[in-house]
Amino acid sequence: MAFTLASLFGFKTPDKTPKTLNILKHRCPQNHRCPAVSACPVGALSQKGQKAPTADRALCINCGKCTRYCFPKALVMEKV
Ligand code: SF4
Repeated sequence: MAFTLASLFGFKTPDKTPKTLNILKHRCPQNHRCPAVSACPVGALSQKGQKAPTADRALCINCGKCTRYCFPKALVMEKV
């Protein structure tokens, strides 16, 4: 662990490990319109019917915003 001035005073430094969006379809009940689709700032998420959403990897900027709209935690950010 790196010793920093912030750690000396007990402050946590932000985790800068690169993360990518992962869609865990088994967690999605697939019985509703996904609220995360309209929350995505770049339109990377799409949904067919009430199935689990899919992400266009070419558009996704891995910001993680969609994960805050998925209550069953089917959308998660995971370390690369
Ligand atoms: S991580 Fe960000 S850019 Fe990627 S699908 Fe979610 S909201 Fe959209």
